[in-house]
Amino acid sequence: MKTPFCGRSLFRQTLLVLAGSASFAAAGDLGFDNTPFLPGNKWRVHDINRPRPPVVQPGACSMQGPLQAPPSDAIVLFDGKDLSRWKGRNAKSDEARWKLENGYMECNKTGNITTREDFGSCQLHVEWATPKPASGTSQGRGNSGVFLMGLYEIQVLDSYENETYADGQAASVYGQTPPLVNACRPPGEWQTDDIVFSAPRFAEGKLVRPAYVTVLQNGVLVQNHTEILGPGVHKTTAPYRLHKDKEPISLQDHGNPIRYRNIWIRPFADGDADTAAKPTEK
Ligand code: MG
Repeated sequence: MKTPFCGRSLFRQTLLVLAGSASFAAAGDLGFDNTPFLPGNKWRVHDINRPRPPVVQPGACSMQGPLQAPPSDAIVLFDGKDLSRWKGRNAKSDEARWKLENGYMECNKTGNITTREDFGSCQLHVEWATPKPASGTSQGRGNSGVFLMGLYEIQVLDSYENETYADGQAASVYGQTPPLVNACRPPGEWQTDDIVFSAPRFAEGKLVRPAYVTVLQNGVLVQNHTEILGPGVHKTTAPYRLHKDKEPISLQDHGNPIRYRNIWIRPFADGDADTAAKPTEK
């Protein structure tokens, strides 16, 4: 029988006790008690008192070895060799300038990168790894993110023995919904996010159906048809704003050297989502 006070469990027990201390919270930025309440929810944005999801050890797999090939009908957004399907935010050129080496790309403080193509409802596969050795704490350790339609963030973070507010840890819908469990692998190991995203629908300028997302991290269900409440923002809430039925996907450069590889996508028809929206005037 396992003792409940060993290794990762002891780490969590200690942090949960410490998290109850207001002074620790203020010092460690583990959450907030003065942010707005989420719509229809008893929790505040980044609520320090919101329970952290339990830790689950992902099953062993071969992901640390050769890549798994994408399905035959997938659009490969990154095959480890070039960044041609991505653009950056540069004054002189729109080229993505993340570091490219050894079959992966790595954030290097040149800003977010964005797909050149627009996408709506989709199945999206992303592999990522946080730096080893880990450095920083809370939101400062291995922070990145997958922004669906450039607006709705599935958080990428080193949440392996790294306490932070529940709605900001890896696989959270950032600022809204924590993952069902914490299925993170240790720093340096490759991890997977398999995301099924239903884009929001707008009609006559108004939201008629919110976005939903299902996520498996390392093969473990972490978001189950979760309603997205609006764009993900820090320390507050934001209502939906009208946008096109397809928008680019972005990867966040939060200043930490996160690595990505083997990114592919399978857009799917989602009712009348592709025809209901009216393009945003720009
Ligand atoms: Mg992030």
